Amino acid sequence: MARIAFIGLGNMGGPMAANLVKAQHQVSGFDLAAASLQAAVAKGARAAASVADAVKDAEVVVTMLPAGKHVRAVYETEVLPHVARGALLIDCSTIDVESARHVAAAAAKAGLEMIDAPVSGGVGGATAGTLTFMVGGGDAAFARAKPVLQQMGKNIVHAGGSGNGQAAKICNNMILGVSMVAVAEGFMLAKRLGLDAQKLFDVASTASGQCWALTSYCPVPGPVPTSPANRDYQAGFTAAMMLKDLMLAQQAAQAAGATTPLGANAAQLYSLFVNGGSSEKDFSGIIRMLDGK
Ligand code: NAD
Repeated sequence: MARIAFIGLGNMGGPMAANLVKAQHQVSGFDLAAASLQAAVAKGARAAASVADAVKDAEVVVTMLPAGKHVRAVYETEVLPHVARGALLIDCSTIDVESARHVAAAAAKAGLEMIDAPVSGGVGGATAGTLTFMVGGGDAAFARAKPVLQQMGKNIVHAGGSGNGQAAKICNNMILGVSMVAVAEGFMLAKRLGLDAQKLFDVASTASGQCWALTSYCPVPGPVPTSPANRDYQAGFTAAMMLKDLMLAQQAAQAAGATTPLGANAAQLYSLFVNGGSSEKDFSGIIRMLDGK
């Protein structure tokens, strides 16, 4: 049992903190939103009065915040000046690689170990404790963090040094965004050519067009009964989240000098889809935009 501070108790952080409580940890939670804090208290966390109050005698600090600017501000102005010596810092937010490396360097300067540990698996995975964690940081920090992460997830991957967890996440999601658009285009072309969607699925799912966006998350209703296409594209993984990750990938590509023209194109298409009012729809719903709907 450890004393854990959990900062950011929203859609993801709330259930993740609840799983740490279930694992018998003493969780001290803080969120700017009173309702989120109260929901965590109802699951057994202690309500801290501030970030400083939450971290002051924590052995482990976990953060699950919206974006890089929140992570930088929370660590630089609240966590690092107030956290107990020797505490392990774990940021699970999805943020830009540069911010992740910047904050980890600031932590190291303060004599603290920190990892970036973004997740995939969504709210369902957070609630069930089956998230995948992609971890960036040193070997010793990873070894310390692993047992804590295992209480919130089932697949814990050490991707390398600081920022590499974020890098793994955005590279994977860029592949996913591009492949979802490609699969959607295939089905739209099939429709215009009079080829039945199930027939295309039967061929492509066992041929060289095979990929996760097709076989596990097919964007047309029918072939994969569990895909959001069968429930009017209720998310799942929202288009807004996909756009966020594609923009992070573009930011990283520019900074690193990587050529990612299809990633850039996917980011523009998802931007159109989101700005057209579909931000909360599942990202596979982009097929409807390609269909002119
Ligand atoms: P959310 O908006 O529901 O939760 C974020 C919480 O952080 C909010 O409750 C907010 O009040 C709190 N917060 C913001 N600034 C704060 C501060 N200074 N101090 C304390 N609390 C603060 O978002 P979410 O869906 O839980 O996502 C969190 C992170 O996880 C994001 O980086 C997101 O990209 C990533 N993520 C989300 C999903 C998903 O399906 N929702 C999946 C994978 C990764």
